[in-house]
Amino acid sequence: MALKLYNTLSRNLEEFKPIKPGGVGIYSCGPTVYWNQHVGHMYAYVQWDVLVRALEYLGYKVNWVMNVTDVGHMTSDEDTGEDKMEKGAAREGVSVWDLANKYIAQFEESLRLLNVEMPHIVRATEHIPEQIALIEKIQKNGFAYRTKMGVVFDTGKDPEYGRFANLDLTKQKSEERQEADPEKKNPWDFFLWFTGKPTHIMKWPSPWGEGFPGWHIECTAMSTKYLGEPFDIHTGGMEHIPVHHTNEIAQAYAAFGRPSANYWLHNSHLLGKGGVKMSKSLGNFVTVEELKEKGYEPLALRYFILNSQYRTGASFSWEALTAAQTALEKLRRRAQSLRKGESYAEEFKQALEDDLNLPKALSVAWKTQDRAALEKFDEVLGLRLFETKEEIIPKEVEKLLAEREKLRTEKKFAEADEVRQKISGLGYTVEDTPEGAKARKT
Ligand SMILES: [Zn+2]
Repeated sequence: MALKLYNTLSRNLEEFKPIKPGGVGIYSCGPTVYWNQHVGHMYAYVQWDVLVRALEYLGYKVNWVMNVTDVGHMTSDEDTGEDKMEKGAAREGVSVWDLANKYIAQFEESLRLLNVEMPHIVRATEHIPEQIALIEKIQKNGFAYRTKMGVVFDTGKDPEYGRFANLDLTKQKSEERQEADPEKKNPWDFFLWFTGKPTHIMKWPSPWGEGFPGWHIECTAMSTKYLGEPFDIHTGGMEHIPVHHTNEIAQAYAAFGRPSANYWLHNSHLLGKGGVKMSKSLGNFVTVEELKEKGYEPLALRYFILNSQYRTGASFSWEALTAAQTALEKLRRRAQSLRKGESYAEEFKQALEDDLNLPKALSVAWKTQDRAALEKFDEVLGLRLFETKEEIIPKEVEKLLAEREKLRTEKKFAEADEVRQKISGLGYTVEDTPEGAKARKT
């Protein structure tokens, strides 16, 4: 068997054939960094991490690039509304740059906690010249025109426009789209570069005047810069099919005469119980960091995510997460008890090759009797099955521990002992070790 992936371009399971033998270039649409990334968002990144690891397991060398959007993404996902970054900065009373740095760090920490192999993360605002050069190319090829509001992509010049998403352009509402710029020739035309928003904070000089890029151009510019043109695999959420990826494909057609990537993979989502969108009011819109504070191991979330194939998505509940935590601990104990035996390695490989059938792969991990085989499987699953689990210490206990250390260095031993008693009231014993004080569940 060979690796098969569901390609949105053809709406078919296709055998994967890399452009260069042995190597794979993958570009994943990353987050817009205007707010915290919650467990729902992390679903996609864990799934694409397993794609990367599965390709490595199958013998490929992978170059994984992911963008973070820090300019130009409007609240509507199209050309109307405010820039999400500027809205976020106003909400928090900080600069857009500080906002971006804060949420990039939060995102990277969530990736780390979920044991995601770090992609090469690239920022839209650090690739303005590349975006300008690409827009110039599109314009030179006759696919863009100038209005008072900016540089607009002429979808009328692309006979294939909308085919990727099977859009029926005649049946879709167009007023809102045209409202963004009455000079648009076709309602589907979208901005490559904005010049007509003088109050926008982030702006750069360009051949068309001071302004900023539209949301879609960054992904075409950065993916092809780092991975070449065309490259192998482009991933993103299913909601990107009708607008963001449709426009990326149109831009690549205008610039290069073909789509920028050969395989377009789309993930479904992590929803709340009963299939409803996760939200703050339902109490399940939490960050990975917050899971940890609640006493869960972040890898329990990873285990939970691996129970679904990327195209089906999953329903999140606290009960399911608790069950995942228990199962993960059990699998670890099993892993540690394994010696030599039947490996089921072929079955594991086939599960990966079947469009990344992770529930199946996980079931093989439970079945194998061979320690060495499971060690290899875990390079894909990323569950750290052979590491002794670090006890998860609640933040509150860690804080008290630090407070006690400080008091002790100040030689305030009576106060330090009071803090120790507080810690023991929370169910933890303090142990003084050569590396400093540590808490252990009593
Ligand atoms: Zn993108």
